Amino acid sequence: MNERDTEHMLAELKEKENYIATDDFKSADLILINTCSVREKPVAKLFSELGIFNKKKKEGAKIGVCGCTASHLGREIIKRAPYVSFVLGARNISKITEVLHKPKAVEIDINYDESEFAFKDFRSSKYKAYINISIGCDKSCTFCIVPKTRGDEISIPMNLIVDEASRAVSLGAKEIFLLGQNVNNYARRFSGNHEKTNFTKLLQNLSKIDGLERIRFTSPHPFHMDDEFIQEFAKNPKICKSMHMPLQSGSTKVLQDMKRGYTKEWFLNRVQKLREMVPDVSISTDIIVAFAGESEKDFEDTIDVMNQVKFEQVFSFKYSPRPQTEAEFFPDVIDSDTASARLTRLQELHIKQLDEKNASKLGNIYEVYFEELYNDGFVSGRSDNNIVIKVKGSEELLGEFKDVKIISIGRTVLTGEIIK
Ligand code: SF4
Repeated sequence: MNERDTEHMLAELKEKENYIATDDFKSADLILINTCSVREKPVAKLFSELGIFNKKKKEGAKIGVCGCTASHLGREIIKRAPYVSFVLGARNISKITEVLHKPKAVEIDINYDESEFAFKDFRSSKYKAYINISIGCDKSCTFCIVPKTRGDEISIPMNLIVDEASRAVSLGAKEIFLLGQNVNNYARRFSGNHEKTNFTKLLQNLSKIDGLERIRFTSPHPFHMDDEFIQEFAKNPKICKSMHMPLQSGSTKVLQDMKRGYTKEWFLNRVQKLREMVPDVSISTDIIVAFAGESEKDFEDTIDVMNQVKFEQVFSFKYSPRPQTEAEFFPDVIDSDTASARLTRLQELHIKQLDEKNASKLGNIYEVYFEELYNDGFVSGRSDNNIVIKVKGSEELLGEFKDVKIISIGRTVLTGEIIK
């Protein structure tokens, strides 16, 4: 989502102010830091990076802090780092060209409605197009700061999404990637009057676009994974068969404390339904270990889900309390050694499961959509079910689909050869 927000800001800056992107910050007239605040570490990193940029930047260059930490800390950022030129919240990015000319501007209104703003076009990849379908989040997971930084959930009208996707396809993208905090809660609320609809209908409408071959999305919420949605996922050939299902914890008690809205049994039931209908689906997840009050038994429940599901990818973290969240002052904080030991055990289990899964892929054939050129004579892409595969080749492969046979196994990237 931050990557797409960055693309939107670059587009506005290019069209309205004639800026072009550079990787060399020492020669830049404007340095933007687009921040995350989901965990504590990136926030601490912001201030150390700001110090470095301020010391080494070109004379007169501006520094802007954008994104979720901008929403959450607001003016405090300028107090701690007075050389910062402006602060722009995650829900105010359409104002990027305004704040540029307002010294010390702080625009962080989380009720600001950008759902129908016509952002100019800019994409960092011409092969894959990120498209926002909603902004904000209406859930109140007790550990999560996002509703406080991105505001209430509001969906982008379907006609705007379909137009944006069609435009991206006409410019060469064969894959689109739909983004939202809870994509399968799409159409919960619009800012204007719009026909009642849902995520399944959005997927069906997008699938009608000629030249669009693949649709991915993130993140669906396990609570909203009803049968209609899973059936559409299974039968629509344009929808890539990889599903991100943020588990967070395998313990129903911890899920209740987190206010996630589902149980361990519901999660496993949805996985079973998915696997029955799409046997080769790959499933990724997010897991927080050592949430406040997580007992050994609760943690064993998470390990049990890991053993039953055997996820293809796991984004796992130790719980870090975030400000303005309900869980910030929860008692029964887990000590750091226990939290680290649990995280290590979970990650080692995942690596073992991943190695076993990957070993079985040797000799398999996958259709790969190539989108990235490495500088060592390889080009990489993804299979429909999200396996990253590289082959020897050059840029003619970019934007092409090829059948690839796996000839060697790595942990995150498999190597193959093109067979047709
Ligand atoms: S669903 Fe929960 S974890 Fe996800 S963004 Fe919303 S509040 Fe945060």
